[in-house]
Amino acid sequence: MLSKEKTMEAIEIMYDMFPDAACELTHKSPFQLLIAVILSAQATDISVNKATPALFAAYPTPETLAAAPVEDIIQKIKTIGLYRNKAKNIKACAAQLLERYNGEVPKTREELTSLPGVGRKTANVVMGDAFGEPAIAVDTHVERVSKRLRICKLDASVMEVEQTLMRKIPKELWVKTHHTMIFFGRYHCLARNPKCDICPLLSMCQEGKTRMSGK
Ligand code: SF4
Repeated sequence: MLSKEKTMEAIEIMYDMFPDAACELTHKSPFQLLIAVILSAQATDISVNKATPALFAAYPTPETLAAAPVEDIIQKIKTIGLYRNKAKNIKACAAQLLERYNGEVPKTREELTSLPGVGRKTANVVMGDAFGEPAIAVDTHVERVSKRLRICKLDASVMEVEQTLMRKIPKELWVKTHHTMIFFGRYHCLARNPKCDICPLLSMCQEGKTRMSGK
């Protein structure tokens, strides 16, 4: 496993590669970010960004979304995976925001995860991006990159990946690192064809060395 020092060395290199890494989900408020992140589960940000302009134009606030007919929400998000469940969840989530939080998005993980369709990863994204609270959301890219570089154990659960990253990375860098690792995984250390041959991390990456030796 990579030490704390080596982990930060690797992450600093990723910062240099992707200095502009940031949330790619289009949103204009914490509420819209929350809804976009719920919609992004098992879907690409690109597919979510194609659907949300029409959704948010029609239903920009918790009040309007909570009052929307589910069938109409379905029509607006049907290009996104799992759209039926997601339509019910985002309507119910908007209603809960109104009932319990005066129409505001709550800031704590406990409150966020009590909302329909909101798991720990979604809560972490909202905490970090909407409110600047330190949190590391472990999505498929963060998990893959962490495991390939042996920042965490290969058989680590998502929760263990998150805990390992929190242990090895200073708190003030959690949100930045989350975005940077997503960009690194999305555009460089891709799931099927990672760019090991041009990777500046190859010398410290067990996965990359194994892949390159097989070529
Ligand atoms: Fe990913 Fe390959 Fe770089 Fe390792 S060497 S981090 S597997 S791209």
